[in-house]
Amino acid sequence: MSYELEWADLPEPAATARSRFEACSDLGDRCVHVPQCLNEYETLTAAYRFHLNIAGMANCRDGMRRTGMIYHAASQPFPDWPFQGFNDWQSADQSRRDAYIAAERAASAQTIPGMLGIPEFKLTSNGPWLVGAREIDEALDCYQASSPSLRAELEENDLWVAWLDWLRQTVHHGGFTVG
Ligand SMILES: [Zn+2]
Repeated sequence: MSYELEWADLPEPAATARSRFEACSDLGDRCVHVPQCLNEYETLTAAYRFHLNIAGMANCRDGMRRTGMIYHAASQPFPDWPFQGFNDWQSADQSRRDAYIAAERAASAQTIPGMLGIPEFKLTSNGPWLVGAREIDEALDCYQASSPSLRAELEENDLWVAWLDWLRQTVHHGGFTVG
């Protein structure tokens, strides 16, 4: 297992490439576009992604736990897929599809009221999750409030420094998705 993180709000032309890829995948057929939607999407978003393997993510979670940037909680389940199959999904009213997509997005973005920072469950599975800008902002505040010696120790690790840069970047771009 590994983690692919991506800016929630992409600039153009990456944003269009993502929508185009999602629309093409929704159709369920093999992509016949040139360039291929997936290739185009991956090429144009490469600069807005952060890849972590399982050990790297465990390392980042550990630093975040020690500085109070994440909190432990149980996640609410994702909505059940309310369609009979792929044909039903494809032929369903747009309003039915939109309702499902909205419910799935809300589940991806869930947080625990009253808690500060990022819920740890968003950094332990591929969700898909959305870590919002407010969660990141709170996490960065907790980091700044943690002890200078602890921060100095963590910042000896290049991965941690890259992770902090990622958080400081994405806080200005709607947060990031985890998949
Ligand atoms: Zn396509």
